[in-house]
This record gives sequence, C-alpha cells and structure tokens, in this order.
Amino acid sequence: MAQLLIKNIHMMDGGRKDILIEEGRFSQIEEAGKVRIETDRVIEGREHIVMPGLCNTHTHAAMTLLRGIGDDLELKRWLKEKIWPLEARMKIEHIKAGMELACLEMIKTGTTLFNDMYFMESDCVPLVDRMGIRAILGEGFIDAFDEHLEKEKRAETEKVINACASCSSGRIRPSVAPHSAYTVSEDGLGWCRDLADRHGCPIHIHISETGKEVKDCIRDHGSTPTRYLEDIGLLGPDVIGAHCVHLTDEDISIMKSREVKISHNPISNMKLSVGDILPMRPLMEKGVTITLGTDGAASNNSLDMFQTMKFTALLSRQRYGVSSIGAKRVLEMATRAGYLSLGSDGGEIKVGRLADLILLDRNHHSLVPDNDNISNIVYSCSSSTVGYSIIGGEIIMEDGVVNREREIIQNARKAASDLLSGDEGS
Ligand SMILES: [Zn+2]
Repeated sequence: MAQLLIKNIHMMDGGRKDILIEEGRFSQIEEAGKVRIETDRVIEGREHIVMPGLCNTHTHAAMTLLRGIGDDLELKRWLKEKIWPLEARMKIEHIKAGMELACLEMIKTGTTLFNDMYFMESDCVPLVDRMGIRAILGEGFIDAFDEHLEKEKRAETEKVINACASCSSGRIRPSVAPHSAYTVSEDGLGWCRDLADRHGCPIHIHISETGKEVKDCIRDHGSTPTRYLEDIGLLGPDVIGAHCVHLTDEDISIMKSREVKISHNPISNMKLSVGDILPMRPLMEKGVTITLGTDGAASNNSLDMFQTMKFTALLSRQRYGVSSIGAKRVLEMATRAGYLSLGSDGGEIKVGRLADLILLDRNHHSLVPDNDNISNIVYSCSSSTVGYSIIGGEIIMEDGVVNREREIIQNARKAASDLLSGDEGS
C-alpha cells in the first residue's frame, strides 16, 4: 500500500502531530510520536507547518505567456489590441508551454487544485497530469452567436471530456466552460447545460464582471446576466460563476436559491478596474458559497493564491469594516470551499479527505512568531514559505524544488518570444 508518514508536523492551530497518508488520503492524524508504522516514505515535519493545499477556482492557465502585456490599457482596448490578436496566433506549442509554466507557478505557490478555462485544453490533459497537480479543465466555449463556431466548440468541449476519461490518475476532471452570457448563444448555453448534466461535470462561466456587461445584457435580454442565465435554466449547484462583481439583490437571491458557487477574483478585478467589488457582505449574509481565484496571469499578473487571500480580506474590510471577514474565513474560502465547489473532497487536513497539502517553512521570518498561524498565513507570509506540495499523497515539490523546473521555464520563455515576434518557430 502506498504510504507517506509526516512526523512531528506543526498544525495551524498549534500542537504537533503525526500524519499518515495511505492510498492518497489522510488515514491517521495523531499526537506526535503516536503513529508507529514502518514505512520508508517519511518526512520530518519539525521545521514545517502543515495546511491544506490551496484551490484556485478561476484561471486561464496558459495566459502565463501573456503576463505583463498591455498592463495599463482599459479592458476593452487591452482585449482588442493586445490579448485577442495574440490569442489568435497561439498554437498548441504555446498553449502547452504556458500551461506547464502555470502548473509550475501554482505548485510553487501552494495551489493543489485549479479550475481552468482556456483553449486546446484536451491536448493539455496528459501534460497537467504529468505535473502531478489536480485540475478541472474546460474548453472555453465561445460561439459568438455563430452556428459554425458553436459546432466547433461543441466538438472541442466533448474532446476534453473524453481526454479526461482516459486519464488514469483521476486527478484531472473536465468541466463545461461556456465563457459568458455575452459571448455564447442561448442555444450554446442550453447545450452546455445538457452536456454537464449528462456527464456530471461542473459548469464554469464568467458572470457580471463589468457594469457594461450587465448594461448590455439588460439591453439584449431585458434582464441581468444572473437573471438571464436563471431564466434559460443554466444555473445550479454545479455552476462556478467567476467574478460576480455587479450583482443586484435579486441576483444574490438567485445565486443562493440555485446554490451557485462564486469565484471571487479580487486582484484581477482591481487591476482591470472593473468598476466595483464583489458584494462580499450581502453574499455572506445570504449564505452564498464564495471561493477564490486568480483569473489568468494576463490580468493578475500572478497565480499566487497567498496574495489572493490577503487581497480578499483587505478589500472586504476596506468596504465593509474589520468585522466583515477574518483570516479563518478567508482561508476556508481558499481551501475547503473551493474543493467542495468543484466536487472534490479535499481542502482540509482530516482523516478520510484527499491528501492534498502543503508544508510551510516555520522558520521563515514572516511566520515568526507563531502567535496565530492562520493570521500569519493570510496576512503576513507569502508563497515563498511553501517548501513541500503533496497531492493525492504524492510529493510534487520537495524542499522547494519541482521536477523539470528549468526546462519548463526555458520552454515558456522561448514560446512567449515566438508568440510575440509572430514567428511561432516556423
Ligand atoms: Zn476569467
């Protein structure tokens, strides 16, 4: 049986424990010194703090190649003049190099599960699996109200579902990812809902990111994006709605009644200056599930969930006061809530859960003193404290080092320069 024993590890709430992992799940968590098992896979945890791996519920991973492009343009010009032309030139080698760089960045910054929406995702399934990270991959479904394009996107979406089905590790699962109400036809959205039902996949969609999106939806459909998606039957407990910045009270009630899960992306929202912030307090008062995401590295510009946790706390407190949110709640959003929203039983250091965890260097200055580890994790430390990443009981990063790191970075640099020069290696 595949076992891993982590001895004498510091827990977030104090005390030291032994943690035994068997067959990819936590099987024993006991006071330090109490787990007596002979296994050759042992990590001495005396110098580390254990916490659940972080879950990034909204990203466009391969956009790492577009990091730092057009930073100071407003959203529409940024997309039209910079992002879309480059995306149109992207070939599979660019996507793969960008995806590998993203996986590397996420592993190094403590993410163990991510929810992705981008292009050519089916070709990325083996590569993401090889990185050892857990992921939900969905082909960005944009039909632009064109029947021909819709047909193409249907085929590509099904291809991702088939590619994930042949992935034997079980770490990679598909989603159905209609981009948004403003880029996908009603017919396309209906097809996405049916497909998700048939395969039991989550639906990953952008909702109400900007005020303009809401205004246009009211002009075109007579209702807000949330109301429109509700009316056409898309919403449900398997839906991850990214952004959800511009919501009405009615939208929030719909989110609650349909048990839609929200992916809050504070850094991207502020960087793109989307005009408002997530209505954290009303959503929390209603009991809507809130999870955290980074968005793509072109609008963040990193995939670092430690930064996202801190910004989440600060942004809410700036708007609603210090009592609106505390470190523990933020950490829960970034871990257990994210996992559950993606139908994955991890995000918690508890017997029976998936063994997705990270170990932080407790001697890093930002984690000293340990008056309150959870406060340190959210407000003080950075991802540079992450020393180990263990996913499904497998050690993916050891002493800060990930397999093939140099090669991945060199490939990404080369792919980005090919893409930007328009040369594409031809
Ligand atoms: Zn997005």
